[in-house]
Amino acid sequence: MKAILVILDGIADRSQGILGMRTPLQAAQTPNIDRIAQTASCGIMYPLFPGACAGSDLAHWHILGYGEFPYPGRSAIEALGAELRVHEGDVVIRLNLATTMIDRNERYVQISPAYLAEEEALRIAESLEEYKPEKLRAEIKHIGGPFFLMLLPKEASTYVTDSDPLYFRFPVKEVTPLEKSGKEAGVTAFEVNRFIRWSAAILEDHPVNRTRLEKGMTPVNYVLAKWASRITFFPSFKEMWGFDALIAARGIFYAGLTRCLGMLFENADNFPEAAHLKSDSASPGEDLSLKIEHALRFLDAGGDFAVVHTKAPDEASHGGRPKMKVRICEEIDKAFLLLSEQLSKREDILLAVTSNHTTPSGGSEWTVHSGEPVPLMIAGSTARTDDVLSFNEISCARGCLGQIYGKDFMPLILNFTDRARLLNSRTSPQVRPYRENI
Ligand SMILES: [Zn+2]
Repeated sequence: MKAILVILDGIADRSQGILGMRTPLQAAQTPNIDRIAQTASCGIMYPLFPGACAGSDLAHWHILGYGEFPYPGRSAIEALGAELRVHEGDVVIRLNLATTMIDRNERYVQISPAYLAEEEALRIAESLEEYKPEKLRAEIKHIGGPFFLMLLPKEASTYVTDSDPLYFRFPVKEVTPLEKSGKEAGVTAFEVNRFIRWSAAILEDHPVNRTRLEKGMTPVNYVLAKWASRITFFPSFKEMWGFDALIAARGIFYAGLTRCLGMLFENADNFPEAAHLKSDSASPGEDLSLKIEHALRFLDAGGDFAVVHTKAPDEASHGGRPKMKVRICEEIDKAFLLLSEQLSKREDILLAVTSNHTTPSGGSEWTVHSGEPVPLMIAGSTARTDDVLSFNEISCARGCLGQIYGKDFMPLILNFTDRARLLNSRTSPQVRPYRENI
């Protein structure tokens, strides 16, 4: 049996007053998702642990069954996604162009990441990639839009702080070594701060900014640094779980994650039918449908496990618009008609639907993602049918899967696809959680 996992990024939410104390998923009309839930095993999942407010990248790491390995960090995975020349052990730091202002001797972020045309970004990149380091071999690489990576050799340290304050009312800080870190962290922080100061001087007088100021636009005048990570290689997804796998998604992180884990990447930006979309949120139902169609084609062509991802619900949540998120849920629901039809006529496909984290669409401005459990359903001929009638955070909590953690997810998929190894058996020298003779 093969499996499709649909990750609805940040679709889990809190009860919102404007929705009558319902979550957007509870408030939305989602007949297709609910039809599947009515035949499925449902439950709730803590992707990491109760209360963990994780970024999408770290949550994916755990859900895909790599929680036993230290997470290498987002920048390292992005360097792989950008196909930069990196070696095991290299250190990578993300740099974002931003618009900042000085107020009473402190620098504050106004816009981050900066809004700028790709042509402007390329001209700025030409200048910033000229950086000549002093203490560590450092290279600056543009990875598109306002985003850059700093590549450092393995002598550098990942034990340094982010200069990006994350919240708008906190000042931008220098990069500093973390407590109890070695002298490598001091040298790394020195080099990053040196680049930041050098780039601020370049940006101050850059022709792109001179033109922007003439047009009354905000200048792109500062670089924020974050996510120091180390390039690390891991056992492949096939080795870990026995599946030939693919991720259908958009963006450099997913390109990198698939490269890091030896999976195939189906880049939605390259779908000929999706040339007019360009983002997950432009037409979320159509976008998700296309990804699902490509995933099904992969399974029919011999693949075993397809992950389909949409960022649209998370993006609606960060806009602080619960009602907009309800509409996104309803749009997304249309894509589940195809899956519902497939499940009713074939027995060789298992469908799992979940979210990577909760993203509150209303409430405190200090909450980016929150740590409640996310809903989960697993549907297919092997899954028990429980009493749950709709897919949402509250109904699924009454489902027959109960409460699980991210680390439990892949073993459950092995179980429901009838690939799990009988634990006492010794049929191969390697101890794997799956039968190797499938
Ligand atoms: Zn988010």
